[in-house]
Amino acid sequence: MVKDKTAEEIKQIWQQYFAAKDTVYAVIPEEKFDLIWNRAQSCPTFLCALPRREGYEFFVGQWTGAELHFTALINIQTRGEAAASQLILYHYPELKEEKGIVLMTAEMDSTFLQGIHRSCPWTLGPRPSLAMALCLKQVFAKDKTFRPRKRFEPGTQRFELYKKAQASLKSGLDLRSVVRLPPGENIDDWIAVHVVDFFNRINLIYGTMAERCSETSCPVMAGGPRYEYRWQDERQYRRPAKLSAPRYMALLMDWIEGLINDEDVFPTRIGVPFPRNFQQVCTKILTRLFRVFVHVYIHHFDSILSMGAEAHVNTCYKHFYYFIREFSLVDQRELEPLREMTERICH
Ligand SMILES: [Zn+2]
Repeated sequence: MVKDKTAEEIKQIWQQYFAAKDTVYAVIPEEKFDLIWNRAQSCPTFLCALPRREGYEFFVGQWTGAELHFTALINIQTRGEAAASQLILYHYPELKEEKGIVLMTAEMDSTFLQGIHRSCPWTLGPRPSLAMALCLKQVFAKDKTFRPRKRFEPGTQRFELYKKAQASLKSGLDLRSVVRLPPGENIDDWIAVHVVDFFNRINLIYGTMAERCSETSCPVMAGGPRYEYRWQDERQYRRPAKLSAPRYMALLMDWIEGLINDEDVFPTRIGVPFPRNFQQVCTKILTRLFRVFVHVYIHHFDSILSMGAEAHVNTCYKHFYYFIREFSLVDQRELEPLREMTERICH
């Protein structure tokens, strides 16, 4: 029956059918689906943050065939393997070849959508399905606002070290002592684990406020009127270039992502040593990541407050600050733009 209909007609039927139901549905154009699908192959599990009134909530997305399952991170942390999917998106690619569309529908926990509907800032209409679809659009946004987390493979030594660092972080010990190198551990491993973790966290912090940091609001990557950062790399910008903050951030995150996924710089295989210049590379990464804090604190502090994320950002900053100080990884001069604030919050 569907075979005789055009893509547009199928789209209308699909929309009419689901419009009255409280669910998530979509008719995804082929190109969009291919993009999503390619991303799913390289990154079947990912984390996304949905802003809530009191901060934001993390959701883990996981692909199984053409199904995309979502569960709040807290469920996985508390229930482990037994955590149930709160939202499952079913994709039907059968019509892709012939009609250029992929139909999607969902099954969900009723509480899941209510929460999103009440607090999702992207809510444009009265129907929760629209709000959810917009939230998901953010997840798949082309600009990579939310990048997949770099993960440590379970079973490897570095994964164990990461778990150890996470456990002491949650134990309530003060941040100044949790950054110290545990006895018997290799310093490069310890630094590697922290660099990756800080990249994931700072990237997420910037990602949650990225829409407030635009070419118009921030035409120059700066930290107040006194500090301006120029971008330089070994590709397009061989000379320091004056760029907008969002452009600078995108290049910065891409550059770090490239390094931490480079086996020659961040080896993951057992027995493969770190390169000789490893700490220098990490110094550069951390110095540049510090600038994200500078920009966010000085130019977007109101966004941090309005998202209720102040405590979260401060904790991440403090942890980062104690870490770089413990191993003298970032030059004192770089820390200058936030010196006053640092003196206030890092006793
Ligand atoms: Zn900005």
